[in-house]
Amino acid sequence: MKDIRTLSLEQLTDYFLSLGEKSFRAKQVYDWLWSKNMHSIEDMTNLSKELREKISEEYIINPISVDELQKSKDGTIKNGVKLHDGLLVESVLIPTETRTTACVSSQVGCSLNCEFCATARLKRMRNLEVAEIVDQVALIDRQSRLYFDRPLSNIVFMGMGEPMMNYKNVVESIRKITKPEGLGMSPRRITVSTSGIPKMIKMLADENLKVKLALSLHSAIEKKRNEIMPFSDKFQLTDIMDSLKYWYEKTGNIITFEYCVWKGINDTDEDIRALIQYCKQIPSKVNLIQYNAIGDGKYDQCNKDAEENYVRQLEKAGITVLIRRSRGGDIDAACGQLANKSSE
Ligand code: SAH
Repeated sequence: MKDIRTLSLEQLTDYFLSLGEKSFRAKQVYDWLWSKNMHSIEDMTNLSKELREKISEEYIINPISVDELQKSKDGTIKNGVKLHDGLLVESVLIPTETRTTACVSSQVGCSLNCEFCATARLKRMRNLEVAEIVDQVALIDRQSRLYFDRPLSNIVFMGMGEPMMNYKNVVESIRKITKPEGLGMSPRRITVSTSGIPKMIKMLADENLKVKLALSLHSAIEKKRNEIMPFSDKFQLTDIMDSLKYWYEKTGNIITFEYCVWKGINDTDEDIRALIQYCKQIPSKVNLIQYNAIGDGKYDQCNKDAEENYVRQLEKAGITVLIRRSRGGDIDAACGQLANKSSE
């Protein structure tokens, strides 16, 4: 049977008209599905029992379910999320004093092959559906209310997968998350993180979604970046920069560069100079992400001195730099650790 959440409002309207029902039924159902995140047709209580039964003869709802929930000492919650076909992804709730951030997945596995990332070891199995992305957000909102007594405040597309490689569904999920007739969250609190596919960055800029953009840079030296993130040899850093400039012109939003500093890989002055030269071209800030080792020894967080050197030189060059300490490392919920370890 078909998932009713694959229907647009127009298609729902046509469906109800074909049943001889009034068109406002479609709006009612849409509200249950996309605003209330209801997972049961039976519980749509403003429809008659007969109508609910009729719908259930033709449609189902395939919700995500929590297969395993792990809590970190620092409050981070990692959900091993099961999809209707049994595949697993991970969705993480990251609390701070004032905020709750949902880190959501966009693909099962990942099509990219970043050497330092645990998710890259998994084969890309499939793209997530719109409803599967929205369900992760709704799930973490419920958990935030339950465990922290406040609603979800921020969303980052930094879980498993490359959002730009599941472009259509990611964009539609953002629409469902932000529209008043959906979850009604502010797009300004949503960040899409990408490894940098210029054509897609431009396309996303044209969607006028008002979300923020983060680019996983890790090195501004072309040759080095291609070694660290092998797929990126298809995309030149200058083309990526062009797309970022386009993004800025269209959206007025500054870019966040995500950057890990690894011992013996990108911890020299030459690396810093290249980074400064690169981000100087556009209004931006740099997030230095603490690296979470994935156990093969090739990539290691740099020492304190190297990190301080980065901060000092970036600041001297007038670039805003933040150090992002890792969260949830004790349960493998941190960046780049999402690899379904518990289910192996
Ligand atoms: N594919 C997207 C989003 C997922 S990764 C992207 O590339 O942006 C989210 C962020 O975590 C990226 O900046 C990525 O480079 C970083 N990351 C991956 N593995 C990591 C690890 N082991 N430790 C710290 N950050 C990591």
